[in-house]
Amino acid sequence: MTQPIFMVGARGCGKTTVGQLLALTLGYEFTDTDEMLLRSTGQSVAQIVEREGWAGFRAKESEVLKRVTGVCKVIATGGGIVLAAANRQFMQSHGTVIYLHAHADVLARRLEAFPQDDQRPSLTGRPIVEEIAEVLLARETLYQDAAHHVFDAAVSPDGVVAAIVRQLQPQCQLGCSRP
Ligand code: ADP
Ligand code: MG
Repeated sequence: MTQPIFMVGARGCGKTTVGQLLALTLGYEFTDTDEMLLRSTGQSVAQIVEREGWAGFRAKESEVLKRVTGVCKVIATGGGIVLAAANRQFMQSHGTVIYLHAHADVLARRLEAFPQDDQRPSLTGRPIVEEIAEVLLARETLYQDAAHHVFDAAVSPDGVVAAIVRQLQPQCQLGCSRP
């Protein structure tokens, strides 16, 4: 298998961490849509949203998703990428979609432990675990819908990668040689 692997899931589930490790293991290239957006626009997610609203951000995100998709790539996506049906369909038909599933308390603990990693301030002043639970509830079906495979993201990054490789092994060409 040389087709791209898309990592989807809520903020803090490990799309970047596990995605990087998976890419290293498979000899794939790693890309992060949030990171690419930052590089190509010079603006953070928060800045784009402030200037162009969520609709503007989502349009740019879909564009970047298409642009970065390619063979032998692991692509970490933003937590809200699945909101657009077109994005779900694009990922489904262009590669293998992996959903890293974790409960809200696990995600909250991680984001609280490493607030420098991409944490946006609470909009409501409510405990972060409540906000995460609400977002998960709204998106769970979409993540499940988009995914070819679902993995437990609560184990160590090495453990998640091992489970993914075990599952994909029959199709997976380790040490991908890019054309
Ligand atoms: P995402 O890209 O999905 O938002 P990150 O990869 O940035 O998530 O991970 C968020 C935080 O959680 C980071 O501090 C990371 O080190 C930690 N983390 C990610 N995956 C795991 C894991 N499987 N076990 C423990 N900590 C993890
Ligand atoms: Mg990330």
